[in-house]
Amino acid sequence: MDRSTPHPQTPTVATASVLPEGASTVGLSAWADIDLGAISANVAELSRRAGDADVMAVIKGDAYGHGLVPVAHAAVAGGATYLAVAQLTEALAARAAGVTAPILTWLFPPGADLAAALRADLTLSAGAPWALAEIAAAARTTGSPARIHLKVDTGLGRGGAWREDLAAMLVDAARLQAEGVLDVEGIFSHFAYADAPGHPSVRAQQEVFAAVLADAERAGLRPRIRHLANSAALLTNPSSHYDMVRPGVSIYGLSPVPDIGGPTHFGLREAMRVTARLISVKDCPAGQGISYAHLYTTTQDTRLGLVPLGYADGIPRHASNLGPMQVHGRRYTVAGRVCMDQMVLDLGADSPARAGDEVVLIGREADGEPTAQDWAAAIGTINYEIVTRLGPRVPRRYPEGA
Ligand SMILES: *Cc1c(COP(=O)(O)O)cnc(C)c1O
Repeated sequence: MDRSTPHPQTPTVATASVLPEGASTVGLSAWADIDLGAISANVAELSRRAGDADVMAVIKGDAYGHGLVPVAHAAVAGGATYLAVAQLTEALAARAAGVTAPILTWLFPPGADLAAALRADLTLSAGAPWALAEIAAAARTTGSPARIHLKVDTGLGRGGAWREDLAAMLVDAARLQAEGVLDVEGIFSHFAYADAPGHPSVRAQQEVFAAVLADAERAGLRPRIRHLANSAALLTNPSSHYDMVRPGVSIYGLSPVPDIGGPTHFGLREAMRVTARLISVKDCPAGQGISYAHLYTTTQDTRLGLVPLGYADGIPRHASNLGPMQVHGRRYTVAGRVCMDQMVLDLGADSPARAGDEVVLIGREADGEPTAQDWAAAIGTINYEIVTRLGPRVPRRYPEGA
């Protein structure tokens, strides 16, 4: 193998099948309705809350499970002027599907085909000296300046440059910009504790960011787009807004700070609704153990409903005996273990439910339905993980005016 040849970056992301507009759900085990109007409205509301700052909508992870391409268009319709993904392949997939807005990507390894990225008019993050060097080399092969955002670690302790690496990169980037190889359009960083607005690290990171901007200016760089705020910072900390905010989870109508308030509190609306159909409903005597290892035992004569979703679909196995669902307006909790493809509800003796009836797994807070946040709270994780892991076996629908 020629080790100098970059691996072709396939412009695809794992994504669920999409049901045609107006498709019936009869005969489906489960489906997710994605309300693109809610996403546009959420972006508009976030933009209003961001004041003069522009909105860069974060659509990594298949748009947090909502679908990369439709969400890209909905975010732009709502007023986002920039899009962001983690992996380069996600950015290439969006371009290949006709998304024309500026797109920033911040996760690619040494040897990635950056010339292809630049030909696709992507904005590349430079968070390490090797990345700056490889971007410059790629720009020389394409013959036009590479648009970059410098990624600074102000104290998250994750990606981005700091200390001597950062100092050297500021000098190199200024030189490469003067040579016409780079356009240093932006500079950004990311908080460790944005969801705890009073945490001392928030203020400390902002002070480091301000110092880095001053260092950049001394090196001869004045990036036009300075950005720091994710959803939590956007909603709770206006002093972090700078020129652009970078919300992800909130554009999907989920609260990044559920202890402070849910979506309604922030003027947001959940965009994802997950529904399943009961596969069977059967009578069951008291004292019956339910599902693997019999982690649940019926306490009375009852009826059992079989839900055709499991951990292969992203339902956390940790939600055994914990995950919330609703049938005919009544709340239930998973009975026993979540299996790979199925789980059980103890519906009660008087339930009118029958095979084929709908089970709401993720609905709206405002309607009193189970939410992604409820699932997250039940198992000790965050709403991000619940929606992002919803698997490709659950087809997505994009109903008009959902
Ligand atoms: C994921 C991510 C975001 C979006 O964060 P939310 O909390 O979903 O708003 C912003 N910036 C970076 C660097 C990220 O990795």
